[in-house]
Amino acid sequence: MSLPTPHDHTIDLQLAPPDLRPWREGGSGVDHVHVRASGRPGPTVMLQALTHGNELCGAIALDWLLRQDVRPLHGRLVLAFANMAAFNRFDARSPFESRCVDEDLNRVWEDAVLHGPGDTLELRRARELRPFIDSADVLLDLHSMQEAGAPPLAICGMTDKSLSLARALGQPETLLVDTGHAGGLRLIDRGGFADPASPRQALLIECGAHWEAVSAEMAIDVSLRFLRHLGMVDAAWADAHLRCPLPPRQRLLRVGEGIAARSQAFQFLMPTHHLMVIPRAGTLLAEDQGHRFVTPHDDCVLVMPSHRAGQAGQTMVRLGRYEA
Ligand SMILES: [Zn+2]
Repeated sequence: MSLPTPHDHTIDLQLAPPDLRPWREGGSGVDHVHVRASGRPGPTVMLQALTHGNELCGAIALDWLLRQDVRPLHGRLVLAFANMAAFNRFDARSPFESRCVDEDLNRVWEDAVLHGPGDTLELRRARELRPFIDSADVLLDLHSMQEAGAPPLAICGMTDKSLSLARALGQPETLLVDTGHAGGLRLIDRGGFADPASPRQALLIECGAHWEAVSAEMAIDVSLRFLRHLGMVDAAWADAHLRCPLPPRQRLLRVGEGIAARSQAFQFLMPTHHLMVIPRAGTLLAEDQGHRFVTPHDDCVLVMPSHRAGQAGQTMVRLGRYEA
C-alpha cells in the first residue's frame, strides 16, 4: 500500500485550483465573501468553501455557482471562500501543506478564542468571516478527506438538530453525529448551530477525497440540493445541473470516542479504511509505545483513520456505530 506523504510527488491530482482572482470583490466589504440579497424576505443562507485551504472541491463548487451568476429568489445568499491565504499557497507538488497557514481554521470558532488575544492568520480571517456566519440561518461548509476513494458524508454536528436538513437533501449516504473536537470548536458547532433551542442549522459535507474529480461533482451536487431545498434557486434549474445520483437510503452513524496518538510511534495493527466495520468488540486496532487500543463495541465503524504520522494528542481515528 502506498501512502501519501507531504512530499509525495506521485499523488494523482485530478483537480486544479480554480482561479479565484475574479471573485475577490463580492460586495460585502470583505475579500472573497459574496453577499447577494434578493430584496425579498427569507432566510440568510451561507455556503463556505476552503475552511481548509487545500480542499479544492468546495472552491470549485462556489466558483461554478458564481460563474452561473446564482441569485437568491428570497432572503440573502452568502458565498465565502474562507482560508484564501492557505489556498493561495497551494502547490501541487506538496498539496497537504496548504491546509492552513498558522492553525486549523475549523478549531477557532469559540467566542473565547475569536475574541481572545490570539493573532494567527486564521484567527484574523475568522474575525472577518464571523459577522456573516453569525447572520446565517442555514450554513453548508464544504470539505474533503485525506483517504483515496473515501465515500462522502455529512457531519451534522453534536446534536440531532441538523439531521432533518441532511435528510431533506437526500445526499450523501452517510450522516454522522459526533462529539466535536477537543482541539477547538468547529464552525458547524458555533452558537445557535449547536443550540437545540435555536432553529439555525449547519452541515459540514465531506464531499470525497481531496483532489479526486468526484469530490468536486459531489460539492456541486450537494450545493444545488441545498439551495433548491431552501427555495433559494429555481428547482428546475437546480435539477438540470445535478451531478450525482441519490443514494438508495441514508444511514446515520453515531460517533463516540476517538483514538488520539500518544506519540509519533502510533500505528494501526491492521489495514484500515474510512467506514470500515470491525465486527467484534475487543479487536486489537492500534498500538502506541506499548499501549494497545481495542474496539470498544461490536460493529465498530472507523471514521477517517489518519494514514499520516501522528503527533501526541492528534486524533488518529474516530469510532462509531450505525443506528438501526
Ligand atoms: Zn476539511
